[in-house]
Amino acid sequence: MKRDTGQNREITKKWRPATKAIRSGTMRSEFGETSEALFLTSGYTYDCAEDAAARFSGEQPGMTYSRLQNPTVQMLEERIAIMEGSEACRATASGMAAMTAALLCQLQAGDHVVASRALFGSCRWLTDTLLPKFGIETTVIDGRDIENWEQAITPKTKVFFFETPANPTMDVIDLRSVCDLARAKGITSVVDNAFATNVLQRPMEFGADVVAYSATKMMDGQGRVLAGAVCGTEEFIEETLLAFTRNTGPTLSAFNAWVVLKGLETLDLRIRKQSNNAIEVGKFLEQRVEKILYPGLPSHPQHNLAMSQMEAAGPIFSLYVGGGRKQAHGLLNALNLIDISNNIGDSRSLMCHPASTTHHGLGEEARLEIGITEDMLRINVGLEDPVDLIEDLDQALSSQGL
Ligand SMILES: *Cc1c(COP(=O)(O)O)cnc(C)c1O
Repeated sequence: MKRDTGQNREITKKWRPATKAIRSGTMRSEFGETSEALFLTSGYTYDCAEDAAARFSGEQPGMTYSRLQNPTVQMLEERIAIMEGSEACRATASGMAAMTAALLCQLQAGDHVVASRALFGSCRWLTDTLLPKFGIETTVIDGRDIENWEQAITPKTKVFFFETPANPTMDVIDLRSVCDLARAKGITSVVDNAFATNVLQRPMEFGADVVAYSATKMMDGQGRVLAGAVCGTEEFIEETLLAFTRNTGPTLSAFNAWVVLKGLETLDLRIRKQSNNAIEVGKFLEQRVEKILYPGLPSHPQHNLAMSQMEAAGPIFSLYVGGGRKQAHGLLNALNLIDISNNIGDSRSLMCHPASTTHHGLGEEARLEIGITEDMLRINVGLEDPVDLIEDLDQALSSQGL
């Protein structure tokens, strides 16, 4: 009997999370390779013209063109769906391709969106600049208070869009209340789950309809490739998302899909270890700077809520050093080990100054409204020994008189 390779949903759904991350979705070729094969092909051939016709009409299963389907990409999509606990998943070329597709595929002129104001910089560009160009109005609110969501709803509201924890202020949004409200009003909730990943937080268990990812971050986890994914019901993916992605083409390359498949195998180990390292580094920083915002520590105003919906708080937090831009930049420049980089989710520790980088384009007023001040820094705590990270931060803080 042929061994199960991870394609049988009845079996893979019952596996524990660590097994799902390594084995679900695998399709073995005739060679019986252990590691997933990398299918670098743009097209497919047919035995006869009738087969080609049957493939295109949908009567015969199989692939036709890599903008539509690719075996390596399909393995990744199946694995993410199984890990998420969602019926279906489609991979995209980047996280922003995932967010854009997840929103635009279901919206049209005249529709209304409610979004949490603490969003990744480019996600705010979608809500504030792109959607209005197409006649889709968005109301941006402080998503921490359920009343703000309720009050922003209009008869035309089609989508709630938010991330939790949010970049870079680490606002936590109550998944259960916001998703329940969306359900009750017939609104589709779209959650950007890049920070936590499905290892630490599974929004669908709290009622989310659509979960979208930048897989560039923790899923790849080693700073190599850009990738994204959208998870939802079979109906949403097949009937709503696919027409959009197949015809507009934000397709993930097979090579990048393969790299992310490898990343998923160690995601659980990495994200838990990086979360523990973040707690150690955070406890040190709390003694030395004005304020840190890390949902994993009791000092975060929403620590209890965060811990009720997340298994651990992840590798990222923000800190307020108290001075101005000069001091914040001075601290970054004094680091010897930790790199200055706006990337996150890497196994290397990275730090950046959001006001002058990731959230520069937002403008000062919108930045201050969210809490992105000139003295704020964001850190991604990596897999290095936290003692080395603390020593590096210690000398960099001292160099700035902190
Ligand atoms: C990085 C990021 C994105 C965008 O992902 P890309 O892969 O860079 O396109 C979207 N949302 C969040 C929360 C992110 O951290």
